[in-house]
Amino acid sequence: MHDRHPAHIARCRSAADVSEALRYAATRDLPVTVRGGGHNVGGSAVADGAVMIDLSPLRTVTVDPEAQVAEAGGGCLLRDLDTATAPYGLACPSGVVSHTGLGGLALGGGYGWLARQWGLTCDHILAAEVVLADGSVIEVTEESHPELLWALRGGGGNFGVVTRFTLRLRPVGPVRFSLGVYALDEVPDALAAYRKYTGRQPPEMHTVGGLKRAGHQEWIPPHLRGEPVLFLIAVWSGDPEEGQARTAALFEEVVPAAHVSHTMTYPALQALGDDSQPKGDRYFIKSSYLDDLSPSAVRRLVAAALDEPTALCSIDFEFLRGAISDVPDEASAFPGRDAPYQVTVVSHWTDPERDSEHIVWARETAERLREFGTGGAYANYVQGEGDGRAPDIYGRDRYARLVAVKKKYDPDNVLRGNLNIRPEGAL
Ligand SMILES: Cc1cc2nc3c(=O)[nH]c(=O)nc-3n(C[C@H](O)[C@H](O)[C@H](O)COP(=O)(O)OP(=O)(O)OC[C@H]3O[C@@H](n4cnc5c(N)ncnc54)[C@H](O)[C@@H]3O)c2cc1C
Repeated sequence: MHDRHPAHIARCRSAADVSEALRYAATRDLPVTVRGGGHNVGGSAVADGAVMIDLSPLRTVTVDPEAQVAEAGGGCLLRDLDTATAPYGLACPSGVVSHTGLGGLALGGGYGWLARQWGLTCDHILAAEVVLADGSVIEVTEESHPELLWALRGGGGNFGVVTRFTLRLRPVGPVRFSLGVYALDEVPDALAAYRKYTGRQPPEMHTVGGLKRAGHQEWIPPHLRGEPVLFLIAVWSGDPEEGQARTAALFEEVVPAAHVSHTMTYPALQALGDDSQPKGDRYFIKSSYLDDLSPSAVRRLVAAALDEPTALCSIDFEFLRGAISDVPDEASAFPGRDAPYQVTVVSHWTDPERDSEHIVWARETAERLREFGTGGAYANYVQGEGDGRAPDIYGRDRYARLVAVKKKYDPDNVLRGNLNIRPEGAL
């Protein structure tokens, strides 16, 4: 969807390469974009006529199992990190699709299967090697640059190019994955039971749901194949002995039409979503936090699901809180920790002729859900670059603090191909 043509692509292997690319762009007055894993759906990694700082060669990971710390290159994909840490029974909590970039995901937040148990990816950034807009290379720690470290935990790629993350790791053993599928007329009851369940959901349990058309797999009952359905997923990352019973609890009150459940390794869980959103397809995403999954919100979700323009579209939601909201609000730049639910409208299609119909559906669905929202949204799902939404997303006080950091570390707003924090403040 983003058929843009940079003037130069700098394939960087080190902080020194990034520094040189930034200096080159400055001397020629060229705009700069930064590419980590290339997953930002707004296409912020690429711009016409710009110097693209491509971090994809920077993918080395080293692990210190004793200290439970990893050093990960700024261009790592999530799978690079998981592959390096899994042999030690360790992981850094991250996202649910293993080909997503660590850079963009971690700097903007990082929701995933372990977030309720351990927190967001950005909560695990202990330190970073950062190339500033003027080309200087600094080590960011609590001692050396505390405000910049605060801003890197949720403020996005606004302050410098991270060439190496130092990340806190957590123990993770085999996990239990359970998925139930419900016919659409069962959704009000199933989600009423789910809403009750979230009130007692243990932190080691992460649950997500999705309204989309069922596939044609063997385990899906024939009458539901190709029909709009609800998928509910429970992932247990606590004591493996308890996994089966714990995940079964989600499906006790309203029994799904079909149900699959497996124990698997953490890297296998991380790869489960890899084929669902292939490269080259077309996507438009709208996301917001919901106050509650009330019966009227559920009715609205079901109505929107019935309007999905093509079979690949979905409306996904997840229950948050747990360790995400245990972190004090002022401890990081990440906003909206208290939100109970996140809903993500994923418009997904292949035919360029059908762009506008899919974009309209996502926008209208988000609008229909607005009255149930907290007013906030996840920075990493805000579509499009430089659209002036940062003050709303971060809120007045947090935005002002971010502006102060921006002024100090990137006063000329060289790094602006993102959800932009403007050094001059809100317009
Ligand atoms: C299929 C898919 C699944 C996803 N799943 C999840 C999920 O489970 N959880 C979740 O929280 N989010 C998820 N996301 C959203 C994801 O967090 C964002 O799209 C994020 O921007 C991806 O980072 P990236 O490095 O791949 O992106 P890119 O497009 O490469 O980069 C996006 C922006 O991030 C900044 N950036 C990236 N790397 C660096 C760096 N090293 N230093 C400085 N700035 C940098 C730049 O501003 C850049 O423009 C998903 C997205 C997709 C497409």
